[in-house]
Amino acid sequence: EIEAQKIGKKFGGFAALEDVSLTVGRGDFLTLLGPSGSGKTTFLMLLSGFEHVTSGRLLLDGADMTATPAEKRGFGMVFQGYALFPHMTVEENIAFPLKVQKRDPQTIKRRVAQMIEMTGLGGHGHKKPSALSGGQQQRVALARALAYEPSVLLLDEPFSALDKNLREQMQDEMRRIHRETGTTFVFVTHDQSEALALSSRIAIFERGRLQQLGPPREVYERPENRFVAEFLGDIN
Ligand code: ATP
Repeated sequence: EIEAQKIGKKFGGFAALEDVSLTVGRGDFLTLLGPSGSGKTTFLMLLSGFEHVTSGRLLLDGADMTATPAEKRGFGMVFQGYALFPHMTVEENIAFPLKVQKRDPQTIKRRVAQMIEMTGLGGHGHKKPSALSGGQQQRVALARALAYEPSVLLLDEPFSALDKNLREQMQDEMRRIHRETGTTFVFVTHDQSEALALSSRIAIFERGRLQQLGPPREVYERPENRFVAEFLGDIN
C-alpha cells in the first residue's frame, strides 16, 4: 500500500502539486485524470522517486519512503521519454531488469519470449530501438517494465503512440495482467474510455489539487464539484 500524506511539489516558486493525500491499495488500478498541466506526471514522478516532494510524506506499507531513491523503491515504470537502452536489442532491453535481479538464464529467455509475444513484437527481438516505430518502442518499454513483475507499476500514457487496434489489445493485456498478478497500477491517461475500462479507482486532478477520488462509476455519476462534472462532461 502506498500512502501520500499532504504531498506538495514546487518547481521554483510554482506549486505543481498541493496538499495531495491519497492511498493506493495493493492490487488497486488507480488512474490519474485531468487537464494538461494538472500535475499527473508530477505525481507519478514523486511516487517513482525520480523527483522528491517539497512537503508532506510518502509511505510504503506503513514505512516512510519520502527520501528513498527510485532504484530502492523498485517500482516498474513506463514514462514518456524514459528511454530504452539504445545500444541493446529489443530482447536485451527486456532482459536487462531480469539480469539485474540475477534470474536464471532459462527463466530470462522464457520471460523475454513471453513478453515479446504479448506485446506483439514478434520478429523485432533482434532490432535496436532506433529501427522501431514510436509505438513499437513504447511496447518494448512496457514489455521491459512487465517482465520482472514489479509489485507496483507506474505508467504515463503508455499507449499514446499506438493505433486504436493495438491500444485495445494492450488494454486487454493490462486488464489480464492486473487480474492475474494483482500488481498495483498507477496509470496516467487522457483517454476517458481507457480510464473507465481499466481502473478500479479514478483520481481527478486540477491545477495541482486532487478534486475527486473514487470508483469510475461513482466519479462519473456523482461528480463532487463543478470542475469534475464539466471536465468529465467535456470529453464525453
Ligand atoms: P500533461 O497531461 O500535459 O502531461 P500533467 O497533468 O502531467 O500534464 P505535469 O507534467 O505534472 O502535468 O505538470 C504540472 C505543472 O508543473 C505544469 O504547469 C508544468 O509546467 C510544471 N512542471 C512540471 N515539471 C516541471 C519542471 N521540471 N520544472 C518546472 N515546472 C515543471
